Amino acid sequence: MARAARQDTRLDTWAGRYASRAHGMTASAVRSLFEVANRPEVVSLAGGMPNIADLPLDVIADNLASMVFKEGTRAMQYGSGQGEPVLREQITEVMRLEHISAHRDDITLTVGSQQGLDLVTRIFCDPGDVVLAEAPSYVGALGTFRSYEVDVVHVGMDEHGLDPDALRAATGALKAAGRTVKFLYTIPNFQNPAGVTQPLERRVALLEVARELGLLVVEDNPYGLLTFTGEPIPAMRSLDADNVIYLGSFSKTFSPGVRVGWVLAPHAVREKLVLAQESATLCPPVFSQYVVSTYLATCDWQGQIVSFRDMYRVRRDAMLDGLAEHMPAGTTWTRPDGGFFVWVTLPEGLDSQAMLPRAITSRVAYVPGPAFFADGFGARNLRVSYCYPPPDRIREGTRRLGEVLANELSL
Ligand code: PMP
Repeated sequence: MARAARQDTRLDTWAGRYASRAHGMTASAVRSLFEVANRPEVVSLAGGMPNIADLPLDVIADNLASMVFKEGTRAMQYGSGQGEPVLREQITEVMRLEHISAHRDDITLTVGSQQGLDLVTRIFCDPGDVVLAEAPSYVGALGTFRSYEVDVVHVGMDEHGLDPDALRAATGALKAAGRTVKFLYTIPNFQNPAGVTQPLERRVALLEVARELGLLVVEDNPYGLLTFTGEPIPAMRSLDADNVIYLGSFSKTFSPGVRVGWVLAPHAVREKLVLAQESATLCPPVFSQYVVSTYLATCDWQGQIVSFRDMYRVRRDAMLDGLAEHMPAGTTWTRPDGGFFVWVTLPEGLDSQAMLPRAITSRVAYVPGPAFFADGFGARNLRVSYCYPPPDRIREGTRRLGEVLANELSL
């Protein structure tokens, strides 16, 4: 250990000069294993990469070419810090599918919802503040919170998502300890990594508790339209416009590479967000915004979402069938109604992190549970995603995972 630390300092001659916030920015322990996991012989159930093979690239290419001819000098110019008004207007239509009625002036465009998270944390959080998040929570959000030296306190979930009683208890205990809680960060739909969804009544109950406790809610919703069971559930923002900041993204419904997301926030917060956005980027990438705007205006984006849903539903079924067939007794898992992820709880005594190198030797990869906790929990959990590999590979992946677990249990 001491030797490793010495080596780090020798390799990085700047080690003594970084700001304290940079100390929390560490590469995950499993990153190097993921390089191996990307080899073709490994079935990777680890990544959360959307499967966009189905996008009509020929049509998109033609429409983008016309856009560049017609509007290239604007699309390739600096733009507004808040984002292009045309796209903001189109986004109000997208959000209507989840019952949100909003004005385009309350929307700020971002570089994916990841940057939305960054900006929201930047304008609200000082070092040592507390953010509440589900247990487990999105690994990218935990990284953002850590980079602002924010303490994450996890709140328990059941099969309907975040538990309002646990929320009340956690907030009470933190207030009694004199801690400042800045907001609740929640992913109500097809949660990453747990795969669970808050039904409408749960959303109403959580918003009531949040109001009563004076808690701002940050609703992160990149997967909401990828539902397998009919109509999307109304967003939390549609139920409480004053106390919810909503993060949206085109990464899962169109393209993650264009890096376009947005924040819908109450007016005063929106003004701060735009100032923060200007200091971060001057303006979010205008060309990307034109790409998304052109796609929405010229392609059947709602039809495309339906075909994404159908494709992911088949993969979800393959994953659930495979798990039912191959998991040893004592293993449990969630049954997502949309999105990309299943959360597995291993039989007692197994450790997802310790097991990962052996799983990779057996040519299957997953993300160990502790990645999704700020406090080291999750050793008996792992996340498997069904978004990317084809169904037969997903089934084969669960078969290999079942073998790995059986071997671990016999160790
Ligand atoms: N929030 C959640 C819950 C996510 O799963 C992701 C991406 N995996 C993001 C935010 C960030 O997405 P993007 O920046 O591509 O919009």
